[in-house]
Amino acid sequence: MNTYARLPVSFVRGEGVWLWDANGRRYLDALAGIAVSTLGHAHPRLTAAIGEQAAKLLHCSNLYRIREQEELAAKLCSISGMDAVFFCTSGAEANEAAIKIARAYGHQHGIELPTIVVMEKSFHGRTMATLTATGNRKVQAGFEPLLAGFARVPYNDAQAVEAAANNKSIVAILVEPVQGEGGVNVAEAAYLKALRELCDRNGWLLMLDEVQSGVARTGRWFAHQHCGVVADVMTLAKGLGSGIPIGACLARGAAAAVLKPGSHGCTFGGSPISSVAALTTLAVIEEDGLLAHAAETGDFIRAELKRALQGVAGVVEIRGLGLMVGIELDRPCVELMKAALEQGLLINVTAERTIRLLPPLVISREEAAMLVHQLAPLIAKFLTPLKQTA
Ligand code: PLP
Repeated sequence: MNTYARLPVSFVRGEGVWLWDANGRRYLDALAGIAVSTLGHAHPRLTAAIGEQAAKLLHCSNLYRIREQEELAAKLCSISGMDAVFFCTSGAEANEAAIKIARAYGHQHGIELPTIVVMEKSFHGRTMATLTATGNRKVQAGFEPLLAGFARVPYNDAQAVEAAANNKSIVAILVEPVQGEGGVNVAEAAYLKALRELCDRNGWLLMLDEVQSGVARTGRWFAHQHCGVVADVMTLAKGLGSGIPIGACLARGAAAAVLKPGSHGCTFGGSPISSVAALTTLAVIEEDGLLAHAAETGDFIRAELKRALQGVAGVVEIRGLGLMVGIELDRPCVELMKAALEQGLLINVTAERTIRLLPPLVISREEAAMLVHQLAPLIAKFLTPLKQTA
């Protein structure tokens, strides 16, 4: 179906941060399939692990115990401080699980119409519950009726959540520690801490959507770890399997015990092949020091972009955390994606005017410098007409 405004290119192979089209032309991939290809393309260790597992066992129903899934759950719990994991295959599904946990948790506490606080500019997926939770009318328009049980407030505004606290139906807050689709908006540490406190005071669940920001992308295993808070529920997908679809909904304490046999499920969730892809992704991140590397390389890209674009009128802000980089311009700039593609560079534009970079975590310092070297002049050229008329 015609669900994507696709760019006119198709890739046939990749290696590290590089992709090649059928004509043998090479592209620098600064998007990683929208934060998916954590280890870059064709990582030898991941390729080998997937191949070995494929030769042994691809799939096994969750009617049985799956050793690789149990190993992955233990690893995820150890790096996150959570107690239990439900596995699925996408970010939307992971958030569906979180929403179901919040609702069931509310009912356990006698709340008839459990309500989840969600944020403006958020993105949580395209299923009916997750598009209702999403703070973008474009995602919702045409799919009404939306679901009941969501209350929306501005992002990075703890007082707005506090003001909603007299609504006795509230059971949880669902928030992205870094809004990806919303324009690479980083939550302030004080904000997440205030949300944690509100949840503790009111018996609500703090549910963090780390689908885009998780799995080392920001330089910590999970973006909220920059802020010293713990979640009750956390969702992952995208980069977890480095390209093999896998999603996860992690929970802690009472939230971890809400779902029972029969109350939720997913045929493909946590299959041996996807679990091995995720385990290998996490092992390579750890062994190759990619947490520190993501933090340092992200800082380097932002610093170099700021240097290269200094004084260019029309650049509103260069921001982000680790390898989530946003360059906000003062005008819509979707056409920059095509202009960059023509120069052999894959970037993205989100929230109409924010250029978004999400390169594989394996991007070298040299490749990061090449990225800035290619991108900064493109942006400057795009903004030039304003400079001339100003
Ligand atoms: N949550 C966040 C923060 C996302 O960025 C996305 C996708 O962009 C999703 C959820 C939905 O994930 P998926 O497309 O895997 O359903």
